[in-house]
Amino acid sequence: MNPQKTLLKVEDLRLYYPVPGKKIGQLEYIKAVDDVSFEVKEGEVFGIVGESGCGKSTLGRAICKLNPPTSGKIVLDGEDISDYGSRQMRAVRKKVQMVFQDPYASLNPRMSVFEIIAEPLKIHHLTTSKEQMKEKVLDLLRKVGLDDYHANRYPHEFSGGQRQRIGIARALAVQPKLIIADEPVSALDVSIQAQVLNLLNKLKRELNLTYIFIAHDLSVVEHISDRIGVMYLGNFVEVGSKEELYQNPLHPYTQALLSAVPVPDPTAKKERIILEGNIPSALNPPTGCRFHTRCPKCMPCCKTEAPACHHVDGTHAVYCHLYDEKNKA
Ligand code: ATP
Ligand code: SF4
Repeated sequence: MNPQKTLLKVEDLRLYYPVPGKKIGQLEYIKAVDDVSFEVKEGEVFGIVGESGCGKSTLGRAICKLNPPTSGKIVLDGEDISDYGSRQMRAVRKKVQMVFQDPYASLNPRMSVFEIIAEPLKIHHLTTSKEQMKEKVLDLLRKVGLDDYHANRYPHEFSGGQRQRIGIARALAVQPKLIIADEPVSALDVSIQAQVLNLLNKLKRELNLTYIFIAHDLSVVEHISDRIGVMYLGNFVEVGSKEELYQNPLHPYTQALLSAVPVPDPTAKKERIILEGNIPSALNPPTGCRFHTRCPKCMPCCKTEAPACHHVDGTHAVYCHLYDEKNKA
């Protein structure tokens, strides 16, 4: 593993969902991901956080092309996969795997745990004999903290946390480099969430994995991430290391999200920033800065001009007019 090596580079990625327009035969587009660029280094955990509907899942699915992007460039492990069709993507899926929020929905109820974990091994021809297949499946089960006897059981016989472990074992079967975990603990009880997060951390160390970790809960993202991108209505508004983002949030949206996170010390004073209204529709996003309709610091220029990216230092970047030279105090 080389922590300086860029494992994933995403440039100007867009994914627009076509939906029926107001007139018959006319299409309109939900701009779920709109001009997103970022990089993930080998061995890093890149967290993506934002409110429901901001495009987090779509971004995750676009990167591994479960939902084909509308445009943009994706380079994975030095290979430009932007124009790959489904056949070429089959080979790439050995490098990038997804873990989903609802492990029950993503596990075939008619397949035993053995069959579920063996399936990717078969698809990618990763074993040469039945014996080797059995050994690999049992090894994967043990890696995620399950027992050999679980192999013959079916998904409905497991708790939510155990099902998520099965989903993780299935993702690990092809020995991927990158795992995109989409809200992997959101459906679990808080005590189980910590166990699954600890398991993901342990596996990352043992198997030299890189994660993109998607969640709406800032405390969950903080627990596991090295760097974090805050998303709003299809794009990042701030990207930085965990420390920079939590200690020195610059974007008004990040500040509002963080102000709502409970602190362990109840005597510590923290002013809660209440955002007015809901996240606007991605069908017809606001002009200028997309956050201007809810921003407590909105200025006239915010309504018409999209803010540029301001690099605060090597890794901390913010998209906001407050940091334009002319607006700096
Ligand atoms: P959540 O946490 O609720 O899943 P999210 O941040 O992951 O939210 P997405 O699920 O990616 O956001 O959705 C982004 C936007 O795209 C939303 O406006 C959503 O309604 C829309 N969307 C998502 N999937 C589709 C689809 N298959 N067809 C049309 N629109 C979609
Ligand atoms: Fe608020 Fe303007 Fe900054 Fe957008 S650009 S976050 S509206 S101050």
